[in-house]
Amino acid sequence: MRNNFVNIFNLIILISFTSASKLIFISFDGFRHDYIEMYDLYNIKKLFLNEGVHIKNGLKNAFTTVTFPNHLTLATGLYPETHGIVANSMYDPNLNETFYAFTTKDNDTKWFAQNDLTNPIWTLNQLQNGKSAIIGGFPGANVPFKAQRPFYSEDYKNQLDWYEKINRIISLFSNNSINLGVLYFPEPDETGHEFGPMSNEIKKILRDIDLILGYLVIRLQDSGMDDVNIIVSSDHGMDTASFNKSIDLSDYIDVNLFKSYGGLTQINIFPNDMKNLDFIYESLKQIPNYNVFKRDQVPERFNYKQNERIGPIVMFGDVGYETFRANRSQFNWKSWKGDHGGDNDVLSMHPVFIARGPIFKKNFTLTKIVNSVDVYPLMCHILGLKYGVINGTLQNISHLLVDDYTFLNFGYMIDNLLNMAFIILFLFLLILFFRIKTEFVNNKNKFTFNSTTTRIF
Ligand SMILES: [Zn+2]
Repeated sequence: MRNNFVNIFNLIILISFTSASKLIFISFDGFRHDYIEMYDLYNIKKLFLNEGVHIKNGLKNAFTTVTFPNHLTLATGLYPETHGIVANSMYDPNLNETFYAFTTKDNDTKWFAQNDLTNPIWTLNQLQNGKSAIIGGFPGANVPFKAQRPFYSEDYKNQLDWYEKINRIISLFSNNSINLGVLYFPEPDETGHEFGPMSNEIKKILRDIDLILGYLVIRLQDSGMDDVNIIVSSDHGMDTASFNKSIDLSDYIDVNLFKSYGGLTQINIFPNDMKNLDFIYESLKQIPNYNVFKRDQVPERFNYKQNERIGPIVMFGDVGYETFRANRSQFNWKSWKGDHGGDNDVLSMHPVFIARGPIFKKNFTLTKIVNSVDVYPLMCHILGLKYGVINGTLQNISHLLVDDYTFLNFGYMIDNLLNMAFIILFLFLLILFFRIKTEFVNNKNKFTFNSTTTRIF
């Protein structure tokens, strides 16, 4: 786990004071951060950008920028290498089993709760006497974590009408059954894949999303529930995909030498015989526009190496590149104009982040980089929950809050005081160093003078 030093101070938040509020957290799968401006989404601009907050470049999500890893990251504040859902399809050498996001039993603890650090927000909330509802099948929703299931959950297979999802969450809040509602919508991801991010179809589905968010805010206001905070975010963005930017691995190497898991954009390679590791690695490295790493050499910025479910070789193309083992021409390109995955520094992969409610500022835009792991401590702060060691930090995102958290949170203050103490210590050591150095030079000069004089005389 990275950032352990900084994150130790998250533990200090255990003693910080927070006031518990209500929260609705919504994920619209594949909602690229710049869709709001691109398609001039009226309700979102009025109700969230003007009356709430938003992050200009969206969230810097986790590598690899696909659905299951990033939803678990939003829900836990952990990078995929730590929560263990490292791809939409993956192989676990210890279990000697494979996982496929949309077909493997979605309540299988051994995949989702790889270690004790994984505490999804809905679980943590209930362990600290809250009540959570999940509607629409947020990835991991059906898994019992710490022997806890959500107080209320509506399976995504029920395919509730969008407005019905909102009605259910409103009625659960209105009779005080829950303090946390988590909603998942599979759009605009599905339309983005089929028609691409620059299409009339995506424009239409985004208008529908804009309307549903307007409906949510009005229903809350009409029900006298202005005290409920709303966060709307997503797992990843979307970019164009095309046959012209696709490759067959079989054009470069005998694909029978390895198994591959992941998706079309990022692949974890497991050699059948580890003796061939170098050969496979060298062969794949020759492919133009592709990034290929041995697992222990994956750059630190990806936070993607500390898990055996990550392949001995990790590869992904530049944005827009789609990877097949073979026969790419037989793929249904007519219904595949967009995709996502791979590098989380690419802006088109960044998902939206907007929020409103009594805890958030109004008409405020945050321009700095915020990571998707930082959303979890924000949600914990809103709900008044104590949390343990995670990868995210509240201070990265606290500027969105009315009570600019810098001055109100004890844990944050201690964090800052410690930072300040380190700076003072550093300056002190620097001064000490120069003083010693000056003394040394002075002494040396004295010595030189003396020796010279000795020589002369
Ligand atoms: Zn997708």
